[in-house]
Amino acid sequence: MVKEKILIVEDNDQNMRLIEMTLGTNNHFLLKATDGEQAMAIAVRDKPDLIIMDIQLPKMNGLEATVRLRQVPDCCYIPIIAVTAYVMKGSKEKAINAGCNAYLSKPINTRQLRETVAELLLQHRKGITPSAIGDSNG
Ligand code: MN
Repeated sequence: MVKEKILIVEDNDQNMRLIEMTLGTNNHFLLKATDGEQAMAIAVRDKPDLIIMDIQLPKMNGLEATVRLRQVPDCCYIPIIAVTAYVMKGSKEKAINAGCNAYLSKPINTRQLRETVAELLLQHRKGITPSAIGDSNG
């Protein structure tokens, strides 16, 4: 079985490690980016099967990176999970409008992250464009 590629975009070391440990490398090949520009470059180059996108990022925020990736033919169907610490009214809607498929708030709930990743990868494998899932708040 070919390991699915997951791009983790996160500028905080601790969160990056937590996400890496939560997903593990048995079933996934993990790629990492620490700012929005790097995320764009790696996504275009490596075409991951899923992206976990922090929203607050240096250089280019996660929403803008998502909007731009949706304009790249080979990247427009990659499932993107938005992750943000600053949950305000409308933040989920903003993430979904930018083109994210799911929305999770920090602190990261590892079980919820695992389940969301599994569900989106399953839909991606089946060729289904995922509908928005995730936290109901925000
Ligand atoms: Mn951040």
